[in-house]
Amino acid sequence: MANGKIGVTTENIFPVIKQFLYSDHEIFLRELVANAVDATRKLQALALSGDFKGELGEPKVRIELDEKKKVLRIIDEGIGMTADEVDRYINQIAFSSAGEFLEKYKDQAGSIIGHFGLGFYSAFMVASKVTIHTLSWQEGAEGVFWSCEGDPDYKMQKKEKAGRGTVVTLYLDDDAEEFASRDRIRGLLDKYCKFMPVPVIFGKKQEWKDGKYVDTDADDVINDVEPIWTKAPSELSDEDYLKFYKALYPMEEDPMFHIHLNVDYPFTLTGVLYFPKLKERMAIDRHKIQLYCNQMFVTDHVEEIVPDFLTLLHGVIDSPDIPLNVSRSYLQSDANVKKISTYITKKVADRLEEIFKEQRPQLEEKWDNIKLFIEYGMLTDEKFCERGMKFALLKNTDGKYFSIDEYKAAVEPFQKDKDKKLVFLYANDVQRQYSFIEAAKDKGYDVLLLDCEVDPHFVNLLETRIGDCRFARVDSDSIDNLIPQEDLKKPELSEDEKNQISELFKSALPEGNDYLVEPRNLGAEADPVVITQSEFMRRYREMSALGGGMNFYGQLPESYNVIVNLENPLVARIREEGRESDLLRQVTDLALLANGMLKGKALSDFIARSKRMLQ
Ligand code: ADP
Repeated sequence: MANGKIGVTTENIFPVIKQFLYSDHEIFLRELVANAVDATRKLQALALSGDFKGELGEPKVRIELDEKKKVLRIIDEGIGMTADEVDRYINQIAFSSAGEFLEKYKDQAGSIIGHFGLGFYSAFMVASKVTIHTLSWQEGAEGVFWSCEGDPDYKMQKKEKAGRGTVVTLYLDDDAEEFASRDRIRGLLDKYCKFMPVPVIFGKKQEWKDGKYVDTDADDVINDVEPIWTKAPSELSDEDYLKFYKALYPMEEDPMFHIHLNVDYPFTLTGVLYFPKLKERMAIDRHKIQLYCNQMFVTDHVEEIVPDFLTLLHGVIDSPDIPLNVSRSYLQSDANVKKISTYITKKVADRLEEIFKEQRPQLEEKWDNIKLFIEYGMLTDEKFCERGMKFALLKNTDGKYFSIDEYKAAVEPFQKDKDKKLVFLYANDVQRQYSFIEAAKDKGYDVLLLDCEVDPHFVNLLETRIGDCRFARVDSDSIDNLIPQEDLKKPELSEDEKNQISELFKSALPEGNDYLVEPRNLGAEADPVVITQSEFMRRYREMSALGGGMNFYGQLPESYNVIVNLENPLVARIREEGRESDLLRQVTDLALLANGMLKGKALSDFIARSKRMLQ
């Protein structure tokens, strides 16, 4: 056997390896354990095909750490390598491919990190010396010992080895001391190797004895070699899915539903996704979907692989067909990735439709916790929107749930305006809009509750999708005009009279807002003053607050319509009494109160005035 120079081109590859992946040194362990697992799987395959006739046993991968000597070993019982193979795979191929890799991607370092490792050579990110001691599975093979001290020279010689397989030994570098810690290695194994398909052992299981943890005789297997996504859904119970979720996210509340993904053609993908309980805000951790490649953790940044709204889900996807050694921007345009993304969206929609059809009570019970996800999905994904129109639910202010079609059918007979346009009424705050909601209900209307943060956008979407309808918030007009049945007769007033009324009522309203005073004839029974906010203006203001790109509306002062009912006898009295009228203040305050707009000093003035007027 010979000593020699590694690779073909670069002299200074090792410093480059070190620097290049500087921020992600920890992936060396994943790479080495993955190699050990691969070598084991290859041997298992050879045993299955009958090529390997020896004793297979139950091959395991062991990780050993000597914290004091700063030595880390990765030991497998896999196929091993002959001297020739070490030469081919380690000295030549691996190295030259690393060189090519660096050359090709040197401008995109940041985008590759975490998605792709350098394989065996990533060991040199953390070790000043690496040795390989290996014995091939092939009959008559001899042990090979290879060592390299982080420069292009390597040594290779024969060396007896007891059992088949490979031992890779890392002499950790001084600046990689952090990896000479049991906890650190344990943490990395948990992160990257938790579901690898061959048992990975790190030391012994410990138990609490005499006030401290001590090793037991039992090996500590850190991974689950058969995670649930590798099994058939028919073998699994709801409990299994829940248990798996808890193992992935010990701190999270129970999920709402799960989806099992399993496809063989035209690409291979398995996985289990969960609908987490979504709180009010969308400021939710989006890095909860883990991407695996043949049970090896790759990343929890799946933004480029699934549509944005799906990143709100939790769980695992595993696919060998997602190219990992490419930049992120390339990933998005990759045909396989596009297919995968479409497939996942479709599966999520299928599952929701199935729940809608077969588990309606559960869907209603959990709706408030998943509606943000579904509405956001419908707003951002055309295909999902089409599907969502069938299974999305609407909830009214009495807490009853309807599908969109059901709701339309329910209100159609009562809520068409004079132009035969269907008007959906909604509130976004039952307490604040209480009196408006009650007034609408008294009139035989139904009121939806749309209190989710994306609802201003969702309302627009529904108007377009349903067609020939409009949504109006209950406080956007006086009750008679919310769903106008006939053109209201305009009161006959001169410009002067109109201005006079406008000035009079404005004088009693708080400053800082814009008011449009509008005299109307609403009948003697209706309230003298109603304050409303135009649906259009309010909705655009809310959308711009959410970042809908309509900032112009967001900058306008709040504007309100002040409807003065000339047919209410109190209004005639107020016009006679003029600006000093207590009655004027009282009726405008009552209108403000109905909108939750009377606060602080204005509220206490109102109470004092009311007491005085009652005497
Ligand atoms: P990759 O795994 O991406 O092919 P590596 O540099 O990690 O690149 O490894 C190169 C090759 O060396 C592997 O394809 C494999 O043939 C061989 N190899 C590495 N580690 C082992 C091992 N523990 N047992 C057997 N062969 C190994």
